[in-house]
Amino acid sequence: MTGSAPGSPDTSGSHHETGALHVAGIDLSFARRGAERLAVLDGFDLEVPAGGIVALIGPNGSGKSTLLRVIAGLLTPDRGAVTLAGRPVVAPDPAIGLVFQEPRLLPWRTAADNITYPLELAGWDRERRTQRLDELIDLVALERGIIGQRPSELSGGTQQRVALARALALQPEVLLLDEPFSALDALSRERFDLELLGLWERARSTIVLVTHSIPEAILVADRVVVLSSRPGHVVADIVVPTSRPRTVADLDAAVVSTTATEIRRHLGDASSTPAGAATDAPRAAA
Ligand code: ADP
Ligand code: MG
Repeated sequence: MTGSAPGSPDTSGSHHETGALHVAGIDLSFARRGAERLAVLDGFDLEVPAGGIVALIGPNGSGKSTLLRVIAGLLTPDRGAVTLAGRPVVAPDPAIGLVFQEPRLLPWRTAADNITYPLELAGWDRERRTQRLDELIDLVALERGIIGQRPSELSGGTQQRVALARALALQPEVLLLDEPFSALDALSRERFDLELLGLWERARSTIVLVTHSIPEAILVADRVVVLSSRPGHVVADIVVPTSRPRTVADLDAAVVSTTATEIRRHLGDASSTPAGAATDAPRAAA
């Protein structure tokens, strides 16, 4: 990673910087049997500078998960492009790690073997895998005692830590997180959020976090991007005016409540406006 301040506006034309993510003019629709295609994303634009953390928040079905799959190279958009450090992302890319809402671990593999699976696929030998596993266990604060266990023997939170370690295995430039903590209770979730920030301090990957939680978005992100209802596009891009490192106490600051109010207002607009009919939204120029 290079030295520009994370989250700072990208004024240097540094789209080619490691980890700089550029999503431009994405349209995506799904074919439906016996019906018109379902338009899910409509002119979606997003810039995340290297090492930046952006939270995406929006109504159910607004296309957030679809967008992450496009960014990860798992889905091809009808129009528009995703570039990472200046190169187009057109297929799954080891430089992009993805964590889903459910851990999606391989049930027959131990935690350790789930974490090292991407390394196996990438052809790493056992010695290197073991060494990397060791680092990953520390990075996501896994208890060493559990790494020989299978997913069914682990709590939901621990499974999600394993999924996170797996996503980080190949040191991705970008980490995409799709509501990763939403199945956890509030306290575990807050702990995970803080750990995510700690992890970011060490790894400095670019992060895109989909969440339904305004406090989570404000605690974790530099910017909160609010999506319209389907077909999804950006209705607001709000800077979180709190410096790092952050603590839970920062969430009590007045500036945070102002930010939360602003996000809520845009979300209200997004969900009460008929799809595609928002008038004051900064739509992508077609
Ligand atoms: P979000 O994550 O914002 O809740 P999604 O991106 O999961 O929304 O889904 C957006 C819309 O696209 C939903 O209506 C969903 O049913 C539809 N959808 C998602 N994936 C597919 C698919 N593979 N085929 C058809 N429709 C899909
Ligand atoms: Mg989703």
